[in-house]
Amino acid sequence: MPDMETIVSLCKRRGFIFQSSEVYGGFSSCWDYGPLGVELKNNVKRAWWKSVVQMREDMVGLDGSILMHPRIWEASGHVANFNDPMVDCRACKLRFRADQVDPNEKCPETKGPHDLTEARQFNMMFKTHVGAVADDAAVAYLRPETAQAIFVNFLNVQATMRKKLPFGIAQIGKAFRNEITPGNFTFRTREFEQMEIEYFVKPGTDEEWHERWIADRKQWYLELGIKEDNLRIREHEPDELAHYARRCADIEYNFPIGWSELEGIANRTDFDLKQHSEHSGKDLTWFDPETNEHVMPYVIEPSGGVDRATLAFLVDAYDEETVRDRKRVVLRLHKDLAPLKVAVLPLLRNRPEIVEMARKIADDLRPHVSCMYDDTAAIGKLYRRQDEIGTLYCVTVDVDSLEDKQVTVRERDSMEQVRVPVSEVVGVLREKVLG
Ligand SMILES: [Zn+2]
Repeated sequence: MPDMETIVSLCKRRGFIFQSSEVYGGFSSCWDYGPLGVELKNNVKRAWWKSVVQMREDMVGLDGSILMHPRIWEASGHVANFNDPMVDCRACKLRFRADQVDPNEKCPETKGPHDLTEARQFNMMFKTHVGAVADDAAVAYLRPETAQAIFVNFLNVQATMRKKLPFGIAQIGKAFRNEITPGNFTFRTREFEQMEIEYFVKPGTDEEWHERWIADRKQWYLELGIKEDNLRIREHEPDELAHYARRCADIEYNFPIGWSELEGIANRTDFDLKQHSEHSGKDLTWFDPETNEHVMPYVIEPSGGVDRATLAFLVDAYDEETVRDRKRVVLRLHKDLAPLKVAVLPLLRNRPEIVEMARKIADDLRPHVSCMYDDTAAIGKLYRRQDEIGTLYCVTVDVDSLEDKQVTVRERDSMEQVRVPVSEVVGVLREKVLG
């Protein structure tokens, strides 16, 4: 298992993740996904969407707005309950979560203990104003979770898609929490992306569906290559359950910072739909045609972080080995997740015929698989670069290629090389990558 520094360094060096606003000295706990990071992250989202929407008869998607009616956050309990008790140091002005103050820590100002205020409730929602007037009537919040957009669209989706219980709605989107102690690279940030499902079931079937979703979601990570030893399920203790939850289980990953939450799967009962029914005055029940009764559905919520999943896939794929007395770093990413599927490399960049043939192959591949052309170094170095970013295959055009019209295809994990006729390269690689 690599340490976090190794991953942060690889991410920066190879264009996966940069510190946000770096030319201005950075902006606390904000990160930008670079050219390869955005490919990887998009692939994570695509794999999730395929698994939970495209492949399922009982699921549909949604893309709700980030700014929503402020009363939603009253109904959801976020205005009243989404608080952390905070204390401030009067001397150094640092702010801590009241339950996380280290009594042995020295204050940088007084050189003694911090001079702490009484604990105050600090709401973690980002507040803003909508429109030109910054008064209380114009207050809005950046959503602290994507879930509420699903609840308030329950009727719209159910009616337009003619869905019967059980069915679910999936959504990927940004959420914002003013965390006091963010950190550990992209693990905890104030702006993050969620992939959330609200799965609506008949009351009484909720516990069974909860079990099924825990198993399904764990399986998803395994199928995308996460090592089983690095995953575990952790049940929430009764005192750590959110105010709406009957039961919650986390899928945890063995991050370099230790076992930490990758995804939470909660039984939210009928809390949210009930709250929105009361606060909006709209009846958010489902009419069961079989029993002629109105049902307030229960909700199972698998809620994963895109950034955390991306980080876990990076950590899990990272490998170092010694090949011919040299260290080889290779990202053994699943083929669906690898940011680039193929790199086309000319053995000699000063031979126009070789360069032309290589560029032609890259152009032919582009409509089918993500692909790059690179001639900026010697072949050994080019291979190492591609291994380090997880590219599945390298296609090398050499002097022989001009004669026998064949190229070398090298596989990332085994480094095995085979000669393939140029006329078959697209078909062969399509089959390997997409098949
Ligand atoms: Zn202090």
